[in-house]
Amino acid sequence: MTLQKILITGELVLHERAAEVQEINGNVCDLVADMFETMDAAPGVGLAATQIGVGLRIFVFSYSFQDREIRGVAINPTLALSALSDEELDEDADAEGCLSIPGERFPLKRADNVTLTATDLEGVEFQIEAQGWLARIFQHEFDHLEGILFADRLVKPHKRLMKKAIKENGWGKVGSSWLPGKDYLEP
Ligand code: ZN
Repeated sequence: MTLQKILITGELVLHERAAEVQEINGNVCDLVADMFETMDAAPGVGLAATQIGVGLRIFVFSYSFQDREIRGVAINPTLALSALSDEELDEDADAEGCLSIPGERFPLKRADNVTLTATDLEGVEFQIEAQGWLARIFQHEFDHLEGILFADRLVKPHKRLMKKAIKENGWGKVGSSWLPGKDYLEP
């Protein structure tokens, strides 16, 4: 396992649709091991392969609630979404972040319920029905595989504030990344 650099918004692979995994081989297993290590070190609750520079449809997730840990890998996932809730956007409860836009959090409405269907590392298909925060994680990570960052989905005034934050950090162009556990940002 190798800790990998996490790419920051502006790197092209983050903004392109990732390709289907054709075969679950040793390379894919190594990639997934690196993804778990990097997610845990960040720390984060999810990480997509695109975030460490690999344009394949894989994400990992690790989420604890009520003494239960839900942890796994989703290969070639599909996601079925309920409608967006019609509740008002809540600045705190709906605040979302992304390891590819480190340190910036903005509220975003998501569907309350999703069904994730994907393949695990053994090639076995599984399904998880998720609500609340886990549903949000799945939507966020699935979006990564479509080349969509949560910044792309923000609404006024958050969209403008996020744009400003990205600019002020010098991101939004090729060449920025960070290594979890090391407090530095590459120029
Ligand atoms: Zn993200």
